[in-house]
Amino acid sequence: MIHANGKSVYRGIAVGPIVVLKKDDGQVKRRKAEDPEAEINRVNAAVKQAQEQLADLYEKAVKEVGESNAAIFDIHQMMLEDEDYLDAIYNTIRTEFVNAEYAVAVTGDNFSEMFAGMDDEYMKARAADIKDISIRLGKCLSGQSNGGFESEEPAIIVADDLTPSETVQLDKEKILAFVTVHGSTNSHTAILARMMNIPALIGVPINLEEVETGMQAVVDGFEGEVIFEPTDDILECANAKMQEEQEKQNLLKSLKGKENVTLDGRKINIYANIGSVSDIGYVLENDASGIGLFRSEFLYLGKSDFPTEEEQFQAYKQAVQTMAGKKVIVRTLDIGADKKADYFELGKEENPAMGYRAIRICLKQPEIFKTQLRALLRAAVYGNISIMYPMIISTEEVKRIFEIVKAVQEELDNDGIPYKLPEQGIMIETPAAVMISDELAELVDFFSIGTNDLTQYTLAIDRQNEKLDEFYNPHHKAILKMIRIVADNAHKCGKWVGICGELGADLTLTKEFVRMGIDELSVAPSMVLKLRKVIREMDISSD
Ligand code: PEP
Ligand code: MG
Repeated sequence: MIHANGKSVYRGIAVGPIVVLKKDDGQVKRRKAEDPEAEINRVNAAVKQAQEQLADLYEKAVKEVGESNAAIFDIHQMMLEDEDYLDAIYNTIRTEFVNAEYAVAVTGDNFSEMFAGMDDEYMKARAADIKDISIRLGKCLSGQSNGGFESEEPAIIVADDLTPSETVQLDKEKILAFVTVHGSTNSHTAILARMMNIPALIGVPINLEEVETGMQAVVDGFEGEVIFEPTDDILECANAKMQEEQEKQNLLKSLKGKENVTLDGRKINIYANIGSVSDIGYVLENDASGIGLFRSEFLYLGKSDFPTEEEQFQAYKQAVQTMAGKKVIVRTLDIGADKKADYFELGKEENPAMGYRAIRICLKQPEIFKTQLRALLRAAVYGNISIMYPMIISTEEVKRIFEIVKAVQEELDNDGIPYKLPEQGIMIETPAAVMISDELAELVDFFSIGTNDLTQYTLAIDRQNEKLDEFYNPHHKAILKMIRIVADNAHKCGKWVGICGELGADLTLTKEFVRMGIDELSVAPSMVLKLRKVIREMDISSD
């Protein structure tokens, strides 16, 4: 039995087998193959597995982004049947007596170089596809496919650390819990775990060499502990706790369909935060009245290229249609800092949280921004969408955004494409935005306070730095004062104000927020009913 403690980012219990994810260093090792035919059999099994994955991805993509965008997975399946490609792999194994992984990597490099050197633009573009299928085959061979792990049954993921783009690619249906050695409680990986409703522990000091895929474990998010190879007694106790938790959840379900209203009649909107269209299931399950923060950058993460306008349009359209008239606030691209995608070529920065990110990228590279705005304006025809801009620090930025929006409207008019201009708001997540919130309120339709970044920038504490977790105090008076200032300035201008940072879900502050007149709280879906319970039991008339 191995026992360790860490910081809990979601309170829940999980029991099940673990899958240990080890970072590969990107280098494929060359090994001598004693039995080349056995390696060839491994290649064939991996090809079969990759074909199945691609067929599944094709089906999923057709539903989410339409047939034409899904076609790439069809093309990849055909490429995997290409005899020249497969023969080259087999020959490398047979003539060089090397392992399957190495033969696949070398063949992938050779073929992709060959395509890249062709004159025909279409053939040139296939170089990236060859690389892609070779990486997929390599992952199938090493048992690390499906965005990171291979497991038939749901499992507890144990890793050194997970980036947001790795997390977003994991098959959520198959994850019981996360346990990581590193990570900060305010990181996007922690936020994703909360959104996924699964127990998660970070900063757990375990040696990954001492635990093995397949071992049983108990993750207790209430106590912040993980136990590998638990005794029968511990298992029994964990199962009893899970049962108790389930009963509490069932009680909360009786609040579905009820209003978010205090005993003295003050109503408040409780919305949910999501990272992708597939999270909407959790939103509906927990009866949120809308989506207060759709972190659209997750559409860009874990991909090898920018999502197209059509791909984004389909995602936003599906979101608003599924929410059937309820508000869906899409935050425009907030890439940068911990959320990185290689194809943005952001480069290394000394201080990425204060660097080239979010609206700054959109204003400096308006073509990227315009693609997203076109998709949003088009999707607005199909439901109740609002657009929200992140990381604002000045009124000039807002004015420049509106000029770009106007240009997009003109383009859509000229193209004869139907669209609607939705409500537009901004995130208040920099001290600068707080200080000029009176002026900003004149320009926009609403504010949503991003307390995660507001805390990081106000307290000068990097939210990613796990060593600083104990100093990161979102209850700091400065933050609460700022929230009050923003709420007052919004209301003076007749605009509504919400909180979409993690602080919005802090039940110890709910009463204070309601007293401040906050109109909306947008929280992880799993917090919606808990928040409703607290609101329905409070009376603010007497204090
Ligand atoms: C915030 O900063 O509070 C916020 C909601 O945005 P994110 O956590 O995605 O940076
Ligand atoms: Mg933020």
